[in-house]
Amino acid sequence: MSERTLFDKVWDLHTVKVLPSGQTQLFIGLHLIHEVTSPQAFAMLRDRGLKVLYPERTVATVDHIVPTDNQTRPFQDGLAEEMMQALENNTQSNQIRFYNIGSGNQGIVHVIAPEQGLTQPGMTIACGDSHTSTHGAFGAIALGIGTSQVRDVLASQTLALSKLKVRKIEVNGQLAPGVYAKDVILHIIRKLGVNGGVGYAYEYAGSTFAAMTMEERMTVCNMSIEGGARCGYVNPDQVTFDYLQGRDFAPQGADWDKAVAWWQSMASDASAVYDDVVTFNAAEIEPTVTWGITPGQGLGISEAIPTLDSFTEGDRPLAKEAYQYMKLQPGSLIKGTKIDVCFIGSCTNGRLSDLQEAAKFVQGRQVAPGVKAFVVPGSERVKAEAEAQGLDKIFTAAGFEWRDAGCSMCLAMNPDKLQGDQISASSSNRNFKGRQGSSTGRTLLMSPAMVVAAAIAGQVTDVRELL
Ligand code: SF4
Repeated sequence: MSERTLFDKVWDLHTVKVLPSGQTQLFIGLHLIHEVTSPQAFAMLRDRGLKVLYPERTVATVDHIVPTDNQTRPFQDGLAEEMMQALENNTQSNQIRFYNIGSGNQGIVHVIAPEQGLTQPGMTIACGDSHTSTHGAFGAIALGIGTSQVRDVLASQTLALSKLKVRKIEVNGQLAPGVYAKDVILHIIRKLGVNGGVGYAYEYAGSTFAAMTMEERMTVCNMSIEGGARCGYVNPDQVTFDYLQGRDFAPQGADWDKAVAWWQSMASDASAVYDDVVTFNAAEIEPTVTWGITPGQGLGISEAIPTLDSFTEGDRPLAKEAYQYMKLQPGSLIKGTKIDVCFIGSCTNGRLSDLQEAAKFVQGRQVAPGVKAFVVPGSERVKAEAEAQGLDKIFTAAGFEWRDAGCSMCLAMNPDKLQGDQISASSSNRNFKGRQGSSTGRTLLMSPAMVVAAAIAGQVTDVRELL
């Protein structure tokens, strides 16, 4: 038993039974819900006369549809208002904790749970949202699920799942100035492919991750799903414990010491056996930007957009589709690409440290004429803390708009949308066709610091030139 990964340990401890199908019935410690994927699940429960089994293990917030400029109710968008009311009614009638707008705790589901200490090592966490993998930064096994699975968890607090393999991704060395956690994960996805992680949990290990803050680890784990992995995690360590101590839902007093001892025991054993191991050198990673229509179509800022002959036969159709959609020239540098919109926010890069780092590059500079630039804090707490530090003033003085918390233009289910074929420099996680609210809109993914550099120059720029 001394050769197990954290994934194996968490899986074994949460196994209720092995089902006749061969799948595992897995107990879910924490279920996070939001307005988009829960209304139908609650309706299915009502249809079957079922109740939420563990309301105390269920936590709700509203994030995807909330306007970030004017949050007056009823919302102007009737469908958004309907979703909001459904969540309000469903959480009230089932006695579920709900962080509504104005509560001081509302925000993107993957931002609020960690900041309140709800996310802890050794847990199983599920949420009807792909980027649930974020919570793996704490050494939790966190799974994005679909609406029918949201129903299953509401009704039974369990999920039927097939066990994953584990790939250890080791990155060693120090990141160069201007290179961030976002660049690390974009680099990993670029190298392993958007389907490289299918069937796997990713364990991030090595000195680069050991040196990262919890917020940086969250950025990495958040995008595991973009590399095809069902979840990603970092083994809990002192950085994890320091982050958690004193948070609202963290254990206290004697319970704290017991919890730390248990969390430490959940980390992968030194002799753990992995299904695969991949190693990268941090020194090889430069500020990374996507040029195409998947997060795997990325390149270093100094590189040229790959030409067709550099792709395998199998990858060429997607490359051709990307050239056509993005209207970018193969063989030309990504640096210098003109930008229309700059978005800083999302569950990948909408936390306080993201805004602090971005603000360092903003100070004393101005957004280029004709560029719309805006900052959307990931939660009401992030917004309040940023304002207490005067970050809002730094951004607005430079010509950025400063908004209320929500998902905003990551998915554009609210009024924040690209127009026509505008190009956006975005700190979010998906550059799929139409992702930011226009069916022809184009998205370049990058770190918040790189978004600032693009906003100032009006074009894709190497942030290291601003250092
Ligand atoms: S910020 Fe984007 S990826 Fe994250 S939960 Fe919201 S819509 Fe999903």
